[in-house]
Amino acid sequence: MNNDIERVLYSTEEINATEDRLAKQINADYADKKPLVVSVLTGAAPFSVDMFKKMTCYAQLDFIDVSSYYGGTESTGTIKLIHDLKADLEGQDVLIMEDIVDTGRTLRYLVDLLGERGANSVKVCTLLDKPEGRKVEIEADYVGFVVPNEFLVGYGLDYQGYYRNLPYVGILKPSVYSK
Ligand code: 5GP
Ligand code: MG
Ligand code: MG
Repeated sequence: MNNDIERVLYSTEEINATEDRLAKQINADYADKKPLVVSVLTGAAPFSVDMFKKMTCYAQLDFIDVSSYYGGTESTGTIKLIHDLKADLEGQDVLIMEDIVDTGRTLRYLVDLLGERGANSVKVCTLLDKPEGRKVEIEADYVGFVVPNEFLVGYGLDYQGYYRNLPYVGILKPSVYSK
């Protein structure tokens, strides 16, 4: 699996340091709140769990599954709700954890969907932000790394369901796509 990687963009250590920086901000901002952390499956699971463990306030964790990519490296544009949250959002301070914001369509969909459910606040934390890919105007409140317009894998990000378990973020060799 490691042989399929052309270049490592962010190592485990760099990711951990960035998560520490984000957690510091989040812990300051949510010190007097009890946020509901919403992890967006499947890609954001590793990052969300890391972040959740670094949070020092009272916090809850829930999962939502939406899909926008269908196996390729291009977004299809339509978002599907695959599995909903368990939590009631009334009065909650929701903190969405994403792996990457590319076109912004997934985030737009989620912020709108969760915002309609009576949350007190809805904020977004993303490990990666790819501003060049943006098709709809939306920004995350907390951003780990601003990344180039390339298809990335690892640390939750997949290609055809694989590579999520790589402990770093990297770029796949072009030969992998042409297989
Ligand atoms: P968006 O709706 O902003 O276009 O992106 C939503 C989802 O597309 C992300 O949560 C992620 O699952 C997937 N995605 C976007 N860019 C990449 C990428 O570079 N690599 C991988 N593996 N998935 C991506
Ligand atoms: Mg995602
Ligand atoms: Mg994917």
